[in-house]
Amino acid sequence: MITISSVQAFAIRSDLTGGTPVTPPRRPAWGASAEVASPMSRYPRFKLDRAAWRPKMPAVGCLVTASDGTWGFGVSRYGAPVIDLVNQHLGPLLVGEPAMATERLWDMMTRMASPYGAAGLAGYAISALDLALWDLKGKLLGQPVWSLIGGPSRPHIDVYATGNDTDWHMELGFRATKLACPHGPASGLAGLDANEDLVGRTRALIGPDIELMLDCWMAFDVEYAVRLAERLRPYRLRWMEDCLIPDDLDGHATLRARLPWMALATGEHWYVPQNFAHAAAHRLADIFQPDIGWAGGLTGCLRIAAIADAAGIPVMLHAGMNTPYGQHFAYAVPGSPWGEYFLGTAPGVPLDEVKLFPGMAAPADGRLIPSDAPGFGLGVSLDDIAAMRV
Ligand SMILES: [Mg+2]
Repeated sequence: MITISSVQAFAIRSDLTGGTPVTPPRRPAWGASAEVASPMSRYPRFKLDRAAWRPKMPAVGCLVTASDGTWGFGVSRYGAPVIDLVNQHLGPLLVGEPAMATERLWDMMTRMASPYGAAGLAGYAISALDLALWDLKGKLLGQPVWSLIGGPSRPHIDVYATGNDTDWHMELGFRATKLACPHGPASGLAGLDANEDLVGRTRALIGPDIELMLDCWMAFDVEYAVRLAERLRPYRLRWMEDCLIPDDLDGHATLRARLPWMALATGEHWYVPQNFAHAAAHRLADIFQPDIGWAGGLTGCLRIAAIADAAGIPVMLHAGMNTPYGQHFAYAVPGSPWGEYFLGTAPGVPLDEVKLFPGMAAPADGRLIPSDAPGFGLGVSLDDIAAMRV
């Protein structure tokens, strides 16, 4: 039996690309100057720039090597705390375990994390390990991961774009686009007006046949979410997303009851299947958006997808099309109708020039088909991985 011989997590560059973009940008990306409503908007010194309070920690790479020398690679976030959880706790306890036993290993990791909680930062550590294990399994079997989990379920993935450079999204051929909401309760009535103005201008730009969504990134309370949704009703949003602090589960129930006509999406800051089971049982949201690099990796997201499917709730991974991991999930899971691609890069730079890994697919004309290379088809060598380290 092939067993796990080593597990190693380390800091990597967070701006990994398949190559240096050669095409010059036409203008700076929207994120360089746009105010985005956030949970910290109530504090004036953090209101204009959310980067001012977010942690400046490197991305995390996790390399798992099997007894026959085959290796797999996963990535996640949040630097030293996540690296320590892998290298000082979870990783050493998995050495000697069967390398292909992803169900057993995920169950072990979440149980080992239970004294400090399998959600939050531990979710990032478990995800990095789980993704590396699935990459390893695919390589051992010579199959793309999407095939191992029952795919393909669709000829291609329909991809929507997230970000406020909407004209660029339309030029790239996306048929659905999501705005980051600039203002929350801290901006008062003027902010409500500005939000409505942005959504109205965007609807006028894209016309009636493109889907439009609004991401509210945990910035609202129930009252503000209801008030803004009523203002925006003429613009026919496909959904409003992440209106509330994620742990406020009663607030989600209240919002659901007070906005029966508006589709609500959430879940990128829920980390364990139990949160989704609760949300499914109480129909707290219409669309679940776990992140495959945060919510227990592929194994965690497959469990969430099973819960969602039984409740008739679609799963559209958070930023799933920005990683090969999310691409394989969305290609294989029948209840995952769209994939999200976050556009943080500048208009004019082709998406094929700014990939996380050279082997992964980039959206073209609002569509994507993942690589069929073994594992997640990252297209990197151990030397390439060594070069990512910081
Ligand atoms: Mg979001």
